[in-house]
Amino acid sequence: HILRVVRQPNRSGQESGHVWTLRDITQQKLAEQTRDRFLDAATHELRTPLSNIKAYAETLASEDELEVEKQKEFCNVINSEVTRLSRFVDDLLSISSMEVGSLSVDLRPTEMERLFEEVLDKVRPLLGQKGHTLNVQLPEKLGEMKIDKDKVVAVLVNLLGNAAKYTPRGGHIGFKVKREEDGLRIAVEDTGVGISEAEASQVFDKFFRSDDPRVQAETGSGLGLSLAQEVAHMHGGEVTCESVLNEGTTFTLHLPEGKEAANARR
Ligand code: ADP
Repeated sequence: HILRVVRQPNRSGQESGHVWTLRDITQQKLAEQTRDRFLDAATHELRTPLSNIKAYAETLASEDELEVEKQKEFCNVINSEVTRLSRFVDDLLSISSMEVGSLSVDLRPTEMERLFEEVLDKVRPLLGQKGHTLNVQLPEKLGEMKIDKDKVVAVLVNLLGNAAKYTPRGGHIGFKVKREEDGLRIAVEDTGVGISEAEASQVFDKFFRSDDPRVQAETGSGLGLSLAQEVAHMHGGEVTCESVLNEGTTFTLHLPEGKEAANARR
């Protein structure tokens, strides 16, 4: 805890200069850290794609003799940087609606097998690019659950995306779904860089990113897990993390049946 000595006004409300108390400013320090992290992440996440877009667009505009192949390549870079920018802006907007309490879930009966197929189709190219293997375990006859499909897909794609990002080439990624009495337990396992015990309690904090150079080498905003946790809570569930540094990590989404958070839209 961080304590600061403050001068208190005396009982009549005037500053007497004689009354001093200790105030716990831990919360304030934490808020400042979050703000600093936000500024770092935002600067990086906005500046890098913007300067790439500018550089490639300038080259396209000024070079008359550029081969068509090169032109295409530059347009593709611009396109993917714009995608990255929009993703960051979307995350920021979701975070700010979370802050004002207006992030809501739209719960509808959802075919779970189809949902998992959609998730896996989305991440397979990414896993393939890094040469990871994927081990999928799904129980038979999953049936329907009343959930916000788009948001649950986004959470799982994010967990699998992190597993792919934070695992060196040629790793093993597991996607294991278990049925339990009160719903589903969906585990995303990797054989990646892992998370130290000290950092494990922070990974769900907004804008938290590890200082580990293997994490810093990847792009990210530090918003994915805090959004994932919020979405889980809005379904009455939770995301938990188990990890061993340098060995691997398992994130588990517990998705309960028929338990909805109070602010869910029906
Ligand atoms: P981002 O990936 O954009 O940095 P997240 O909120 O998804 O943001 O994750 C926060 C941090 O948690 C990451 O920066 C990283 O330090 C850590 N982390 C998340 N997933 C993993 C994982 N599978 N293995 C190791 N570290 C992880």
